Amino acid sequence: MAAAKLVILGGGESGVGAALLAKAKGYDVFLSDKSALTDAYRTRLQLAGIAFEEGQHTEERILMAAEVVKSPGIPGTVPLVQKLRAQGTPVISEIEFAARYTKAKLIGITGSNGKTTTTLLIYHLLKQAGLNVGLAGNVGDSFAAQVIDDTFDYFALELSSFQLDDMYETHLNVMVLLNITPDHLDRYGYNFQNYVNSKFRILQNAEPSDDFIYFAESRPIERELTRHNPAVHHLPISLETPVSEGGYLAGGLLQTKRRGKAFEIRQDETPLRGPHNAINMLAAVLAAQSVGVSNEALMEGLRTFENAAHRLEPAGTVAGIQFINDSKATNVDSVYYALSSMDAPVIWIAGGQDKGNDYSQLDELVGRKVKTLICLGIDNHKLLDYFGTKVPSIYETQTVQDAVAKGLTLGRPGDVVLLSPACASFDLFKNYEDRGNQFKAAVKNLLMSDE
Ligand code: ADP
Repeated sequence: MAAAKLVILGGGESGVGAALLAKAKGYDVFLSDKSALTDAYRTRLQLAGIAFEEGQHTEERILMAAEVVKSPGIPGTVPLVQKLRAQGTPVISEIEFAARYTKAKLIGITGSNGKTTTTLLIYHLLKQAGLNVGLAGNVGDSFAAQVIDDTFDYFALELSSFQLDDMYETHLNVMVLLNITPDHLDRYGYNFQNYVNSKFRILQNAEPSDDFIYFAESRPIERELTRHNPAVHHLPISLETPVSEGGYLAGGLLQTKRRGKAFEIRQDETPLRGPHNAINMLAAVLAAQSVGVSNEALMEGLRTFENAAHRLEPAGTVAGIQFINDSKATNVDSVYYALSSMDAPVIWIAGGQDKGNDYSQLDELVGRKVKTLICLGIDNHKLLDYFGTKVPSIYETQTVQDAVAKGLTLGRPGDVVLLSPACASFDLFKNYEDRGNQFKAAVKNLLMSDE
């Protein structure tokens, strides 16, 4: 029998991983990317003897596929994907494809913000407890490439809404939904409910005994759950009311309860600050409890966690002024939590490519905490218009080095200079990592000249 024809659209981490898995499983596989591949990915495909094209999509060949694995960066609305769907060709995500080849228990994490932090923490808690766990999805190495030998017992899987959109059969054993706030609406017909539905796809194959961990005070989640109550074991997280089962933060104490087992730790014993990180930690602890991690291991794991860079990352203290890199805060909600986490006067560096931001959510916090706003971007008019009369002083700049230098001149000992942009970075930087790295380098320069 001829091997099934599988086409992979997109040659990034997930596409190349899916191609390697498909080849290992005996598919007749072809990868197509409209742009150029990186040298590293091209070499991996060549070494594995996988057919591919770059710089174009040869439609005739792609339309012959029995099944297509689409990378999350390609919108479902592009004509080629529409054509495939119209002719009845299944189009799935790399996660869906890879999940067919693993017996590992899957912990899926989604939300508009906090996915990476929570996924990394779950991974760390399980690993620290001695479990054989892999890390995949939107973070780390491709899930597909990691199931070729299928050696893991668990996976912590970060799932974006784009990945969930192309998942159909995958059964997740533990599901985490952190929050839903407007993001990526350009991919959802500017309809917030479409985006909410996409996030709720995480529950589509849930069974009654599976755990569903969610932040109950995220309004869209709350609304959706009152409309239909999924048959799954609910573990809500609350910052406002104690829960009979789930997670709760009271007086700086993180508390969880799951099936009769209780755990608690003071947040100030952990390296993660702010109410948003309390939610992330409660979610991660509950997920770890779902797979049987002991209280001792949880305690140790929480104390020893190191978060990924660019998320409220301390960048150094110069002349008594603390510099914090939160370059990953590319939407208003994450800035809300960043400012909530600050307990000193803030010199706030914001700006970049605006995604249709509504800043009104920040009014109270900015009024109370921000003494100076430094707008860093090519077009700062929206920030200037909105905050012009709301902060005591406001400046504009187009380089991060100048923003950092201004922060130092304007700051007093005890102040915080916070880079938390609320915007994408593509106007002045390659990506948010580049923006954060330049910020850290500029602070390091100051540190060196301060010595
Ligand atoms: P994601 O992977 O969903 O983008 P990250 O963990 O990378 O999330 O964090 C992105 C930004 O969101 C950071 O600036 C962080 O401070 C903020 N953030 C983290 N967790 C939460 C949360 N639970 N709610 C709101 N904002 C959060």
